[in-house]
Amino acid sequence: MKKYRHAHPEKIQAIKKKWKRTDVALVGRRAQSKRYRERYTPMIVEKNRRYAEQNPEKIKARREVAKALKSGILKKGECKMEGCDSKKVQAHHHDYSKPLDVEWACSKHHAELDGKVK
Ligand SMILES: [Zn+2]
Repeated sequence: MKKYRHAHPEKIQAIKKKWKRTDVALVGRRAQSKRYRERYTPMIVEKNRRYAEQNPEKIKARREVAKALKSGILKKGECKMEGCDSKKVQAHHHDYSKPLDVEWACSKHHAELDGKVK
């Protein structure tokens, strides 16, 4: 059997592909993701809730930025780090009590600015 698998990888692939499309496999996958959701969703929700509770000013500041971006009050700039050409920028706050006083940085440089990466 092992030899056959080795000699005909494309046939094994086809069998696997066919199996994935069967109802049994589909139901199995659904059950698996349901188990995953049931197991982890409460933890994620709880973690997010705790974070929001401990960092209300951060949540508020981010919401203000999102609102300002949507209404055009704020425009995304370029990453403030020289020579960085990343187009995906995030708002970096120096002071969360001034939610619209932000600098723009890509995720990598934002982490550096926050002191997460040394
Ligand atoms: Zn950058």
